[in-house]
Amino acid sequence: MVMKEMVERQIKEPQILTIDIETSPHTGYFWGHKWQTGILEFIEYGQIIGFSAKWLKGNQITKTLIDYKDYRPGKMNDQKIVKDIHKLIEKADILIGHNIKDFDMRYINSRFLKHNLNPPTTYKLIDTKTEAKRIMKLSSYKLDDLGDYLSIGNKMQHEGFSMWLKCREGDKKAWNRMKKYNHQDTILTEKLYLKLRPYMNNHPSLTIYSEKEGCPTCTSDHVQRRGVYVTKVNKFPRYQCQDCGHWYRGSKSLKIDKKPDSNI
Ligand SMILES: [Zn+2]
Repeated sequence: MVMKEMVERQIKEPQILTIDIETSPHTGYFWGHKWQTGILEFIEYGQIIGFSAKWLKGNQITKTLIDYKDYRPGKMNDQKIVKDIHKLIEKADILIGHNIKDFDMRYINSRFLKHNLNPPTTYKLIDTKTEAKRIMKLSSYKLDDLGDYLSIGNKMQHEGFSMWLKCREGDKKAWNRMKKYNHQDTILTEKLYLKLRPYMNNHPSLTIYSEKEGCPTCTSDHVQRRGVYVTKVNKFPRYQCQDCGHWYRGSKSLKIDKKPDSNI
C-alpha cells in the first residue's frame, strides 16, 4: 500500500510570542576564595524559576515557581513551569527575546531535554539584542540601556542577587518582585522589537503566513509604491509601508524588454 502524504495548506495569522525567563544560579562546592576558584562538584544545576510570555499586542502570562501548588521553599523543581513554557511555544510561529538565541532558547531547550519533552514546534527566532547590534552603533546593548536610549522605558530596579536568595528561602515579597521584574522585561522587549522592526531587513514575512497583500513586517495594507528595487539581473516594484515605515520589494519582477542582439 502506498501512503500518500497529505499536504495541508494552512492560512493563519502568525502567532508572535515575546518571552523572557528567570533562572536560579547553579550551586556547588568549592575551596578557597570565591573570586579565584573552580567548582569541585555541582550540588544543583540552575533551573527555570519564572517566565513571562506575551502575545504580540495581546495577553501576557507571568508565572514563577511559587505559583505552583507543589512549591516548597528551598526546593527547586521546574518540571511544571517548563511544561507550561512548552505549551506556549507549541502555539508560536515566531519567538522574540532579548539575547534569546544565546541564552533563553538554549536554556529552555536544556530543560525540555532534561524533562524528556520533544521539540515543541518549528519556530523562527528574532533576537532584539542581535538586531539592535546590527542596526545601531551604541556602547551598550543591554535591555535597560536600549530602553533608556530609545526612550521606551526601563527595566524594574531590584536589590540584585539577594532577591534570588530570598526567593530560594520562600520570601513571598521577593517572589513578587521577581515576577514584576520578569513581567516588565517582556513588556520592554516587545516595545524594543516594535521600535526596531521597520529597520529589520531579515524579518520573517508575516504576509506569507496570512497570504494577504501588504507590509511583510507589520501586515498593514497601507503601503505606497515608491520606485524600483534593482538586483543584478532583475528589477522589482518597491514599496514603503505608510504605517511602520519599512521598505520592501514586491514579489513579481518588472518585465525587462530584451533588446535584439546587435552582434548577429
Ligand atoms: Zn509596515
